[in-house]
Amino acid sequence: MRVSFLVAGSAEEPYEVIFRNENGKVNVFCTCPAGENGLHCKHRLAIIEGSASAVVSANLDELEVVRTWLNGSDLEMACSEFRDAEKSFEEAKARFAKVKKKLGKVMNG
Ligand SMILES: [Zn+2]
Repeated sequence: MRVSFLVAGSAEEPYEVIFRNENGKVNVFCTCPAGENGLHCKHRLAIIEGSASAVVSANLDELEVVRTWLNGSDLEMACSEFRDAEKSFEEAKARFAKVKKKLGKVMNG
């Protein structure tokens, strides 16, 4: 099974985000430059997380189909893990900036 959405990106032509479900194994591809190179891209993540704000194709109702596919899937788990790690990373960055500032103050007396 295959469902795809057109999403507005930085290029003039919209990108295509393509979900495939083969016996419960869900994959998602995107035609943006990052996606084409197998890198992380925000277009896929946005749709996986239920955001339709960039979708320009007229099949918004199919987001529900994708939601059903994602429920309990490896892809959903990996996205959730990604968001957790991202949050920890942002917290660590904020702490690092604070500690660095403090160190500078202590060093300078
Ligand atoms: Zn993309």
